[in-house]
Amino acid sequence: MRILIVEDELSMARSLARGLEAEGYSVDVAADGEQGLARAVSEPFDAIVLDLMLPKLNGYAVTEALRARGATVPVLMLTAKQGEFDQTEALDTGADDFLSKPFSYPVLLARLRALIRRGGAPQGAVLSYGDLRLDTSEHRCWQGEREVMLTKREHSLISYLLHRSGQAVAKTELLDHVWDPVTERDPNVVEVYVGYLRRKLDEPGQPSHIETVRSFGYRLVAVEGQRASDTD
Ligand code: CA
Repeated sequence: MRILIVEDELSMARSLARGLEAEGYSVDVAADGEQGLARAVSEPFDAIVLDLMLPKLNGYAVTEALRARGATVPVLMLTAKQGEFDQTEALDTGADDFLSKPFSYPVLLARLRALIRRGGAPQGAVLSYGDLRLDTSEHRCWQGEREVMLTKREHSLISYLLHRSGQAVAKTELLDHVWDPVTERDPNVVEVYVGYLRRKLDEPGQPSHIETVRSFGYRLVAVEGQRASDTD
């Protein structure tokens, strides 16, 4: 696995590189946006850790240019806690995930692993499993023929579970990816939102779409809905 770190603070870049190398990744470092973009378009990387504030081209401009060239490599953007950072803007330019500085190293590793696992999934894909369908660019969800209205958080949660459909996902992993890991550490919030989703997605007399994995987390299961076939 090959990672590109684009970061102008040398000490940060070095400690990140050392940490990732210790995990078995092969790591390259670029010190400004232009250099980062040049390397990202010409060499194969499995993921890019991209600082937002960079000389020459900032992180937004780098991701935008990358996506404009059709590169689907996963991008994890590092942002400063204070300042002009806007999560929506970061996602709109094509970053797959973001982490605010200062971050904990295990969280960075977990997110990087998840991004690599997901791979360069096309942006705005339609995900489906069993009778569930989610259009991630339009933020619309269907259970069978029925459209289900979801809040932003519910959408993020079902989207993450759909990416990992059929697999058991730990509550802590969901907290790390769907919530802000700096401000939200209470696993109860995951239970609450799984409850909301079940109420919206499940049908009476049918198995739940989200199975509880005892003292671990949840698994999305394929449910073949009745509604569509009943009307045939
Ligand atoms: Ca910087």
